[in-house]
Amino acid sequence: STVYLNGDWLAAEQAKVSVFDRGFLFADGIYEVVPVYSGKPFLLEQHLARLHRSLAALTIPSRPDPFWHDLITQLLERNAIADGLIYFQVTRGAEAQRSHLPQTELDPTIFASVSPMPVHWDIPAPAKVTLCEDIRWLRCDIKSISLLGNIMLKQVAQQRGALEPLLHRNGLITEGASSNYFAVKHGILYTAPADHLILPGITRMWVLELAKQLGLEVREEAFSATDLAQLDELFLTSSSREVQPIGQIDDIIIGAGRCGPVTAKLAEAFHASKQAYLSK
Ligand code: PLP
Repeated sequence: STVYLNGDWLAAEQAKVSVFDRGFLFADGIYEVVPVYSGKPFLLEQHLARLHRSLAALTIPSRPDPFWHDLITQLLERNAIADGLIYFQVTRGAEAQRSHLPQTELDPTIFASVSPMPVHWDIPAPAKVTLCEDIRWLRCDIKSISLLGNIMLKQVAQQRGALEPLLHRNGLITEGASSNYFAVKHGILYTAPADHLILPGITRMWVLELAKQLGLEVREEAFSATDLAQLDELFLTSSSREVQPIGQIDDIIIGAGRCGPVTAKLAEAFHASKQAYLSK
């Protein structure tokens, strides 16, 4: 595939960065993932707003929106991809020697690639997740490339035969290793508030919007890890998985292991909104 690195378009194998890049030395950087359907980036404005926010939090300068729009256009053209996931990564840049405190005025390293992803129109089969303690830092709102906690937790989930960890901090559900969670109880939709303990998912935000349009009662309140057996429905969201029903948490079966009605309604609304967006 063809990738973008610091102004150049290269074959992926040819793209190299310095060992003094702060992304390599310190994971001093951020990333963003944007889904593209039929050549159109979905909810791009929201993804770029989050990219700018992540960079601002680390005091790394960003580029104006047209720069990113152009990168997406070129990536899709050069790779002849219509449905896929765009990956952007920005690090603080390379410096002369390793030192925790960055030198001022570094040139950020900008990398971009695209990988194909088929568009799904069906609701996926309910998946299993596993409860884990959230061992990550306290600025999960930044889409940092420092993902050690997420990786370790994802490995634990895999060992337990689960798709994703269901993370809790002090007994309250936060999110997944790369997804946000929603629970339904007595017809009310719950999801953790968008504070420093979670990444504010763009899919999460969009599902909240759809839920409000459908007239559902929504509470941005973290639900408790001790109440999991009492939940009527559970699902997770992310740019790549969209709305993924959950039928099992460790040994607890949720909603007889089937996709519940509220989850189905939201998944259908999500597909419809994608369709409407594509035909615009
Ligand atoms: N939470 C974390 C920790 C993530 O890494 C991701 C995305 O990969 C999400 C949530 C979901 O975010 P989005 O819906 O923007 O893909």
